[in-house]
Formats: sequence, structure tokens, C-alpha cells
Amino acid sequence: RIVFLNGSFLPLEEAKVPFMDRGFLFGDGVYEGIGVLDGRLIDNEAHLERLERSLSEVRIPNPYTRAEWTSLQGEIVRRNGMQEGFIYFQVTRGVAERDFFFPENAKPTVAMFTQAKAIVHAPAAEKGIAVVTVPDLRWERRDIKSISLLAQVLAKQAAKEAGAQEAWLVDEGFVTEGGSSSAFIVTPTGSIVVRPLSHAILPGITRKSLLRLSKEGGIALEERRFTVEEAYEAAEAFLTSASNFVLPVVSIDGRPVADGKPGPITRKLRELYLQMASAPALA
Ligand code: PLP
Repeated sequence: RIVFLNGSFLPLEEAKVPFMDRGFLFGDGVYEGIGVLDGRLIDNEAHLERLERSLSEVRIPNPYTRAEWTSLQGEIVRRNGMQEGFIYFQVTRGVAERDFFFPENAKPTVAMFTQAKAIVHAPAAEKGIAVVTVPDLRWERRDIKSISLLAQVLAKQAAKEAGAQEAWLVDEGFVTEGGSSSAFIVTPTGSIVVRPLSHAILPGITRKSLLRLSKEGGIALEERRFTVEEAYEAAEAFLTSASNFVLPVVSIDGRPVADGKPGPITRKLRELYLQMASAPALA
């Protein structure tokens, strides 16, 4: 596998990051993950825009222009012969003697790799997945895509140990989002409900596309918070993320959602998303 590190493409085994990198010592960095279908990056402009925002919020200089990022991404896809999967990339504040203050002359560390993965024909997409709710123990700037993911690691591991595939994080009784996904329910009257954007959640790029597609598809939308109890009573539930697109959620805390099968609105939205992602020459 060929990865990208600080200006070079090289075999994974040869890609080494210095011991004193602030990503390693402090989790001082931000990242992005983008879905790839038929060798094309899905919603890349929106992901690069979010990267620019994350970098500026944590005051790490952006090492590349949007055009440079795009060309590096294209090249890593080509070099790995990637058809379907995921591109991960992160920028840390760089290498310096350990000290909390920003280093004076450190250069950001840039790392990028690809992961092949079946997104379109994933079994989870046909059967749906189970989620369990856990307290949202993250910091108060969840809108920044920080590489400090300890709370998500613990939440998702707790979900796995409870037999589920994703954790839904709960703050003051309301679901914020998934450990690595945006959380949606469908009301008994057929409206999609999703939490509005704020510092409490990551502005999901797939979420944004899904909202546009639901509007175009004439599906009602309520952008508001929902409680765990409302989710238990929902007609359908689903999640979105760059590496899964739209996935049905068929059980929450061991209780089946409605009849425990992927619902019609979820299936329609997944279909619309797949059409969008498969259409050639999208920006
Ligand atoms: N929320 C969190 C906490 C995430 O980590 C992710 C993706 O990793 C998402 C939501 C989904 O965002 P996107 O659709 O941009 O992948």
C-alpha cells in the first residue's frame, strides 16, 4: 500500500512519523475522511472546506491549497488502484519538544492513506445495524474534526461489547450523533428528524447531502433535537457517514426499531444517495 507523508508517496512500511510529533503526544491535529466510489471522491469540495475550517479553528496553518489537496488525493487513489473505499488524511501541528504552547517553527505533519472497503454492497446496508446509547463524554467543540478521539474509542468499544455496531451519544437526554456518524430518526408521520448544527455535533458532509436529497425527494424534514425515548418509538432510524453513506439502524439499546427491518424512507434515501454518488463528474 502506498501512503502519503510530508510531501512524498511511499510504501506504508517506510512511512515513519517522529516520536515528538504533537499528533502522537497531544492529539494536536485534525483530520478528514472521504468516501471513494468508482475511483472518484464523493463530496470532496465540502470535505476540503470542512478541513480548512477545522485547521483554522485550531490555528494550524493549512499546508496546501485546495487544488494541491485535490491533486494529492487523486494521486493516492491512482497509486493504490482504489475503486471503492475511503481516503483518510490528517494534519498535526508538527514535531517539537513537548510543551503545550504552539511551537515557533514546526511544520505541520501531513499523512494520508487509503482503505479499500465495500460501501455499496455492504451487508450492514441490507440488514441494518444495532446501536446502543452511551453518555456523550466529548469536549464542547465537537464541530471541529479533531484527531483526539478517546471518547469515541471508548463509546464505540462499549457498543461493540454490547453486541452493536455503533454508539449513539447522549447529552442531557438528547442524542447528539453517532461515535463516527450522524444520527437520524423518522417519525411515525414520515418526517426525518436530525439534530441542528451547533458546536455539539460534527457538521457531517453526508448529512448535508442527505438533507438536500430528502428535500429534492419531497421528504419532510425536522431539524431539531430528539430524545432517546423518541428514538425508541421511531418508525425508522438510520445513520450517515462518508464511509457508509446511509445505513439503516434496526435496533436501539436492544429494542427493535418498528418491525426491526430497514424502513422504506431509509431505503429510498440510500438509493438517492447511491445515485448521486454514482453520477459521473460531480464536483
Ligand atoms: N459525526 C462524527 C462524530 C464523525 O466522526 C463523523 C465521521 O467520521 C460523522 C459525524 C459523519 O460525518 P461525514 O458524513 O462527514 O463522514
